[in-house]
Amino acid sequence: MSLGGVLDGLDLERVGRDMHDLMKDLFPMCRSITGDGFRETLATIEKRVPIDVHEVPTGTPAFDWTVPKEWNVREAYVANGRGERVIDLRRSSLHLVSYSTPVRRAMSLSDLRAHLHTLPERPDWIPYRTSYYEPEWGFCLSERQLSALDEAEYHVVVDSSLEDGSLTYGEYFLEGDTDEEVLISCHACHPSMANDNLSGVALVTFLAERIAEASPRYSYRFLFVPGTIGSITWLSMNEDVVPRIRHGLVAACVGDPGPLTYQRSQRGDADIDRAAAHVVGRRGGRVREFSPYGYDERQYNSPGFNLPVGCLSRTPHGEFAEYHTSADGLDFVRPDALADSLEAYLEVFTALEENGTFANLFPKGEPQLGRRGLYPSIGGKEADAEVLAMLWVLNQSDGNRTLLDIADRAGIDFRSIRRAASSLLAAGLLRAVLDSSST
Ligand code: ZN
Repeated sequence: MSLGGVLDGLDLERVGRDMHDLMKDLFPMCRSITGDGFRETLATIEKRVPIDVHEVPTGTPAFDWTVPKEWNVREAYVANGRGERVIDLRRSSLHLVSYSTPVRRAMSLSDLRAHLHTLPERPDWIPYRTSYYEPEWGFCLSERQLSALDEAEYHVVVDSSLEDGSLTYGEYFLEGDTDEEVLISCHACHPSMANDNLSGVALVTFLAERIAEASPRYSYRFLFVPGTIGSITWLSMNEDVVPRIRHGLVAACVGDPGPLTYQRSQRGDADIDRAAAHVVGRRGGRVREFSPYGYDERQYNSPGFNLPVGCLSRTPHGEFAEYHTSADGLDFVRPDALADSLEAYLEVFTALEENGTFANLFPKGEPQLGRRGLYPSIGGKEADAEVLAMLWVLNQSDGNRTLLDIADRAGIDFRSIRRAASSLLAAGLLRAVLDSSST
């Protein structure tokens, strides 16, 4: 089956529910950039997609970086004089600053305060904080929780370990007809937050499943990596793969109800930029220029690689109030938005897979469509749209313009233009032109 066929058969309601269910399973896990929470996450994804799990030892150099020590935590809490846990990692994985060093001691509230993080302007929300590269410990809690604490002695326990171990990442390589590759990457290192980043993890998992149902022209490589250090490590270990990457997308924040947002690659005019801008524009979304700040597209677009990798999200990082807080919960992410994002991703890759260049074999006057069964004898709205798409393809197919060029010019969905070209090709009105520009 073609990718377009998979796209046509997508049951949006069901797939949105299933994506949300996967997020529910992943939500409680205490993830960080290394450690067992990340491994548990990959083990859950592996039930759906046959990913390879890679372990890269602590201390491995990765360009200007080094794979850090592995962090794991067994328990972390603050208990009052009566032994009641007033802050407890078991209630939310956000309660502990990620990569907190071990602690076990009694402290007054005033001393403890220096290690407590709240969001005074959002008194019910717990913030998300990390300290990957500075040895530090701390707890995150709601402002309301903090104001309920008495000035007294507290017992603080962070039973964590920072040891030589490894950085873990997941990779699924799906072989297509050619060895030209599409890279799809998501960060999977955040603890209990839904839009950033579990929506991206669910999207890449379900996208991989769907593309595996097709017989794609491109080979596809799906990465589940810890943010920044994970993509840098992957790049440093795969410099031989990099020249085969033709197109790529970074998936993040794809489950909120906001409109789609596409951020272009650094090049700005790569095929992925054209295809994604077309799809996102047709779906009422926004297209933005490249920025060197964001997710792992920063690494893929660094000047030493300059890969054609964009970022397709809904509301981007930092632009929704719930970002990096406990309010980015499972309720914030909607099954219909997840399904809509998945459909948009599939449309983008269908446009890349099925784009082509054709020449009209009857360029003098319009060829007679009715005689070839292409012009409906009884007019109707839908048929009119089909005929219009065929007329655009006939008019514009000069052997140079691609179907995506025509779709943009006509203001018609790529899928409709592709269908029109298939009908015209079958009727002998078009000739495929070998495309040498897609290298
Ligand atoms: Zn984030």
